[in-house]
Amino acid sequence: MEQGKAVVGRFAPSPSGRMHLGNVFCALIAWLSARSCGGRVVLRQEDLDPERCPRRYADLLEDDLRWLGLDWDEGGSAGGPHGPYFQSERTAIYLQYYECLKARGLVYPCFCSRAELHAAQAPHLADGTVLYSGRCRSLSPAERQALAQKRKPAGRLIVPDEEIAFDDLLYGRYRENLAAACGDFLVRRSDGVFAYQLAVVVDDALMGVNQVVRGRDLLSSTPRQIYIYRLLGFPEPSFGHIPLLLAPDGTRLSKRDRALDLGALRARFSPRELLGLLAWSGGLLPQPRLVSAQELIPLFSWSRLPREDIRLPRSLWEEDGAKTG
Ligand code: GLU
Repeated sequence: MEQGKAVVGRFAPSPSGRMHLGNVFCALIAWLSARSCGGRVVLRQEDLDPERCPRRYADLLEDDLRWLGLDWDEGGSAGGPHGPYFQSERTAIYLQYYECLKARGLVYPCFCSRAELHAAQAPHLADGTVLYSGRCRSLSPAERQALAQKRKPAGRLIVPDEEIAFDDLLYGRYRENLAAACGDFLVRRSDGVFAYQLAVVVDDALMGVNQVVRGRDLLSSTPRQIYIYRLLGFPEPSFGHIPLLLAPDGTRLSKRDRALDLGALRARFSPRELLGLLAWSGGLLPQPRLVSAQELIPLFSWSRLPREDIRLPRSLWEEDGAKTG
C-alpha cells in the first residue's frame, strides 16, 4: 500500500446464511482497523453463487451490522461510486478481466472432474482444494476440442514457479511458491461462475480498497491473489489476517451452530454486550464490559490482537451467560 494514502478497508461477507459471531469479529476488526486511522469502509456482498446466497441474507446482514453500530461509507444496498456492490451483479466485469488473462495465454480450459482431481492423490490444501497436477495444461487443440464435446471446462490460471511474499499486518512475513502450494488454480468454474480468487481481486482493486482484513483461514489464498494483482497491474493492498474464533473445546465454529448466529445472539445480548465480549476476546479490553463500536476505536491496535485462535467462553452458549455489567 502506498504511504500516506487514506485507508480504504472493507467487509466482504458471503451472505449464505445469517451472520455468525466469526463474521462479526471479522467485520469489527476490519472496521476498527480502518476507522482508527480515519479510513473509509466498503461493504461488498460476496454472493457469487446466487443459489447459495438469497438476497434476504444480504438484507439481514446489513440490518445486523447496523444493530452492532458498524457503519460503512459505500456499498451494499446503499450503493456508491464503485457499484454494483453485489458480486452477483458484477459478472460482466469479471468476464472482461478473465478474457484479458485468456488473451495473454495465461488461462487454459480444464476438463478434470472433481472425482478425477481427488483421485489424483495430490496433496490436499487446508482449504480443501487439491494441488493441481497441470494435467489439462498440455492438452493439444484437438484434445481440447474433443473433450469440449463432452464436458464444459473450468478455467485455470497458470502459476509461476517462484515465491510470492507479503508482510501480513498480524502474522508478519508470509511466503508461498504457488507451483508447489496449489498449482494452476481455478479462476472460473465449469458452470461459468467466476472463482472467488479472481472476483475478490477485481472487486477490491476497482473499489479502491487498500487494506484487506479477514480471517486467517484465507491467509494461504493471499499469494494467489497477489499474483492476480500483479498480472492485472493493480496496486497491491495491505493484508491483515486475524485469528479464528473457536468453541470452548478448541474446535472451529461451525455455521451450523445456530446458537452463535445473530438471530439467536440478538435475542440474548445487547450490541454493547456482544461488542464487549468480542473486544475482550481480541485483546482490546482487559475484561468484557459494555462498549460501543465507536468507543473501541481509540483502543484498537494491531499489536494488541493475539495471533493464536481465540477460544470463546462457554457462557456464550448458556442461556443467561456472559452478561456483563
Ligand atoms: N467472502 C469471504 C467470506 O465470507 C471473504 C472474502 C475476503 O474477505 O476476502 O469468507
